[in-house]
Amino acid sequence: MDLYEHQARELFEEHGILVPRAEVTDSPKKAREIARGLGGRTVVKAQVKAGGRGKAGGVRLAADPAAAELTARQILGMDIEGHPVRTVMLAQPVDIQAEFYVSYVLDRAAGRFLAIASAEGGMEIEEVAASRPEAVARVHVDPAEGVTSAKAAEIAEAAGLPPQTVDVLVRLWEVLVREDALLVEVNPLVRTTQGRIVALDGKVTLDDNACLRQSRWGAYGEAGDDDPLEAAAAAKGLNYVRLDGEVGVIGNGAGLVMSTLDVVAGRGARPANFLDIGGGASARIMADGLSVVLSDPAVKSVLVNVFGGITACDAVADGIVQALDTVRLTKPLVVRLDGNNAARGRALLDARAHPLVQQATTMDGAARRAAQLATTA
Ligand code: GDP
Ligand code: MN
Repeated sequence: MDLYEHQARELFEEHGILVPRAEVTDSPKKAREIARGLGGRTVVKAQVKAGGRGKAGGVRLAADPAAAELTARQILGMDIEGHPVRTVMLAQPVDIQAEFYVSYVLDRAAGRFLAIASAEGGMEIEEVAASRPEAVARVHVDPAEGVTSAKAAEIAEAAGLPPQTVDVLVRLWEVLVREDALLVEVNPLVRTTQGRIVALDGKVTLDDNACLRQSRWGAYGEAGDDDPLEAAAAAKGLNYVRLDGEVGVIGNGAGLVMSTLDVVAGRGARPANFLDIGGGASARIMADGLSVVLSDPAVKSVLVNVFGGITACDAVADGIVQALDTVRLTKPLVVRLDGNNAARGRALLDARAHPLVQQATTMDGAARRAAQLATTA
């Protein structure tokens, strides 16, 4: 899960990294008040989970509270890389002497974290990295050793960062470890004209696997930028990813669902989603899964592909039959049951005899049928 800048900023602050005073709002009128409270001049910043806000015009200086209101109104109407801007952050402006880039990111292949740092941070960092890779230092960090002062000094030295950044590098590592992040990035980390080191921007990607031990993350889940269907599915505990096709796909087991996506594509249609119900064949999970998939207007047909193992097919069929009582089926449903108790499962669905439900005995046959139904619908 990615955080908004203002959320990342809060984590930095809690770990003792200097950040400008700032406040978030969704209202231009409130922006004016906030600007007054911050001393008049502010930087108005779009809060979207996308990079390149500065280049898109989503980060702008406002000279006074009236300008802050006007600028907030303009930025709140923007769309940055497909992300509608719903809130803005107003921050006290900082006089910049130098802009640096620092980040820690998980390097899975190396089994290490990677510190990436440059004395030439700012909005052009991608160009710097492409044209002069030597200007960007890359230093591996052993996760068991972490970033000590000595390690931070090594990173700063490699990147040509001033010695005052060493403390920030250590604290940023603490953010990564304590907050269970896979990525923390500050661009720009600046030296102000007063010689202070301040984080002017922040990006944090949290490791979703840690959500059980991070109780505060519940508050992040309300983020309005994510796909509403994915949010609804997540709230129901479903493993759902929206795709851009027209065949809804439900299966048990990630591997089976992924191969089902391939087979649907092989039959000339595009999958509308990935939905793994895992070992959960209950009517409740089926009903939840079906209702999420059916509420995607792009879906023209739904394919349920189940291989019964520990979860027997008759339990899945029973789940589908019960789900049909609570979910109004509006699109054709193709069901393929195989494996443990498949015959009993098929008999249960036959007995229900729903006009929009049909069965197939093979995965390929089911995919072909679902693709046909989707493309002729
Ligand atoms: P991004 O484009 O999404 O990465 O947004 P940033 O928060 O990094 O802001 C873009 C650029 O705006 C930064 O690289 C800075 O050059 C500039 N900027 C942001 N805040 C301030 C500020 O307080 N003072 C000054 N002078 N420039 C700022
Ligand atoms: Mn930035």
